Amino acid sequence: MIASMQGKRGLIMGVANNHSIAWGIAKALASAGAELAFTYQGEALGKRVKPLAAELGSDFLLPCDVEDLASVDAVIAALKERWGKLDFVVHAIGFSDKNELKGLYADTSRENFVRTMVISCFSFTEIAKRAADVMSDGGSMLTLTYGGSVRIMPNYNVMGVAKAALEASVRYLAGDYGPRGIRVNAISAGPIRTLAGAGIADARAMLSWQQKNSPLRRTVTIEDVGGSALYLLSDLSRGVTGEIHYVDSGYNITSMPTVEFLNK
Ligand code: NAD
Repeated sequence: MIASMQGKRGLIMGVANNHSIAWGIAKALASAGAELAFTYQGEALGKRVKPLAAELGSDFLLPCDVEDLASVDAVIAALKERWGKLDFVVHAIGFSDKNELKGLYADTSRENFVRTMVISCFSFTEIAKRAADVMSDGGSMLTLTYGGSVRIMPNYNVMGVAKAALEASVRYLAGDYGPRGIRVNAISAGPIRTLAGAGIADARAMLSWQQKNSPLRRTVTIEDVGGSALYLLSDLSRGVTGEIHYVDSGYNITSMPTVEFLNK
């Protein structure tokens, strides 16, 4: 059996440029035959996303800022009008004030806590609810998380708290929509150099640490994430839902730095 997406249509949310994790996922899906629609946040990013979508044979681009629920509704309405139904959705969206992705978690402001939660966590629930209504033949939903949800990671702070809530949402949504044949999963990716990733203080040190201390002795790529996303969005994973699937070179299973690292 191969991972075919032939005849499947889906929405990719979160491409900002060709370094985005969503772009790695889109490439894998398109290579397996999926037809894709893309959202972009604001016209400046739209200009970057348009040629990327065209590379994968898509001219279906829709503006969407998840802070504006009307724009989410408009995306679903446009999908319904053009395609009638949806087979999968990828939510690769996250945001927090850069000034709070350093220092102490305890210094998080109420305003940024709420904004981070709405954009990085609750938007997935709002999108899932609307997408489920157009998944008339079942479907698969995927979001992106990070291991800072279960273990403290310096500077990740409020994003870690939002990702913990996002992972819990994945399980609840999987419970809600399982009876309708809709699966909901997350990929917990290791650190990757992206626009969002660069907002976290000392991101470079995080990359270097994981590269030296993960079992595979390397960081992951957007293509690595794309391969696992293809599995989770295709029928190959038809028995899998509510999972947090780690794509992190195995870093999450380690308990101490490698001996070669310590002896350096
Ligand atoms: P990225 O900057 O390429 O993508 C983040 C996307 O979020 C952008 O396309 C941006 O437009 C979108 N976004 C932010 N606020 C939005 C809003 N209000 N409305 C609509 N879209 C909005 O960075 P990325 O690293 O590819 O991030 C994708 C996802 O992967 C995020 O959820 C991130 O937390 C997660 N993740 C990233 C890493 C990493 O190391 N880069 C690791 C694990 C998980």
